[in-house]
Amino acid sequence: MSFEQLNLNAEVIKALAEEGISEPTKIQEIAIPLVLAGKDVIGMSFTGSGKTVAFGAPIIQNIKPRAGLQTLILTPTRELAVQISSELKKFSKYKRCHIATVYGGVGLGPQIGDMARADIIVGTPGRMLDHLQRGNLDLSHINCFVLDEADKMVEMGFIEDVEKILSQTPERRQMLLFGATISCEIDHLKADYMHNPEVAEADKYVKQELLEQYYYNIPHNQKFSLLVHLLKKETAVPLNPEHRANLDVMDRVLIFCSSRSTVELLTANLRNQGVKAEMIHGKMTQSKRLQVIDRFNHDKIKVLVASPVAARGLDIKNITHIFNYDLSPDPQEYIHRIGRTARAGESGKAITLLSDKDYQVFGQIFDRYRLDIKELPLEDFPRLRFEVRSREPSRFGGQRFGERGFRSQRDFRGPRDFSGGNRYNSRSSGGSFGSRAPPRYRDIRTQPRSRELTRRTD
Ligand code: ADP
Ligand code: MG
Repeated sequence: MSFEQLNLNAEVIKALAEEGISEPTKIQEIAIPLVLAGKDVIGMSFTGSGKTVAFGAPIIQNIKPRAGLQTLILTPTRELAVQISSELKKFSKYKRCHIATVYGGVGLGPQIGDMARADIIVGTPGRMLDHLQRGNLDLSHINCFVLDEADKMVEMGFIEDVEKILSQTPERRQMLLFGATISCEIDHLKADYMHNPEVAEADKYVKQELLEQYYYNIPHNQKFSLLVHLLKKETAVPLNPEHRANLDVMDRVLIFCSSRSTVELLTANLRNQGVKAEMIHGKMTQSKRLQVIDRFNHDKIKVLVASPVAARGLDIKNITHIFNYDLSPDPQEYIHRIGRTARAGESGKAITLLSDKDYQVFGQIFDRYRLDIKELPLEDFPRLRFEVRSREPSRFGGQRFGERGFRSQRDFRGPRDFSGGNRYNSRSSGGSFGSRAPPRYRDIRTQPRSRELTRRTD
């Protein structure tokens, strides 16, 4: 199948080709003809499968330049708005349309003029609503409305804003809803605002054969030591700043932690061990986050420590390894995380470090998605010190680590590895292990879980 066969026209195809996009992905094959035909579409496929082109290319093709605002695309975060808008600008290289990017945290004024000229607006719900309520914007003539990362919109509590915006659009406009997963919380949007939507569903999860998935059973307080050991063993990331000679051939590693405090602590401790790591989390300013992603995508950083929500939907390229330092309580989050590797034609590894705190959700992940995740045996690895507070903030490259500092031990939810050799000197949520061997994941899988925790939401 080619883009020609999908009825994209030459100017769009040429612009795509210049971005190295010459053969459609599955979701593009299914969705592009539907979007071109003006149908309402619910598009689902895994992260990295090319959803932006799936809705973006036909939208660009359908635009009549300088005929007023025609399309509104809502995204949950500013980073995504910037990313989508920059991609659409590339796809429309041979078709002069004006695309405005509208998000909060910057002045309203300049956006007003920009929106007035726009054929397409890519925006975040909060700021769009702000403009609407101030009368800066008229959506009564748009003919296409897109919700990207629809699930994340729900998760972030934007759905009411989205509905308020939708209610300002004409009743008969095309509506497109895209995401890696679309949950039932979106059902009423479908019922109230969409007209006979077509479901375009391609691979929901990343292809298993492209992605090797492993886990280690590891006591919580040894996670850090194991991670550093694996970084050395698994990847070519230099653990000493001096070893920068072959910067080009190195792997690219994304490490997920479920909380911001763990992201900060882990990044600081990795730097202590000579790993050039940087972090991205939701409390960083937008420009800082964009800078970090840009450095990562341009190979200036090899190890990025991320909170999952901060990284969702962003096009972070060519990841070779994903480490789950810990898991988020939502099983679906695992799918979103592993969706970051193994994109079109590439392969990758996802390695989860499991301690007792992660067992419950890991069981749910298995039950729900039936993934092939293999356990790896632990090898010997040196025990390293894991600092839980910053002694010299300045030594982390001028970026104050743990910005507000750790006021008390209660603030800290990460591991406590004071390197007592094999001693488990911390009390984890599962109780103290003492000198007993820690429980292993497969031991607890046979135990019944409570109804609440096994309840499926999809
Ligand atoms: P999704 O929204 O599904 O997570 P994106 O739209 O962000 O995925 O696309 C991920 C990456 O894949 C982008 O860098 C994009 O340029 C690239 N891409 C998209 N479609 C194709 C294609 N048909 N061939 C090659 N690369 C593609
Ligand atoms: Mg996307």
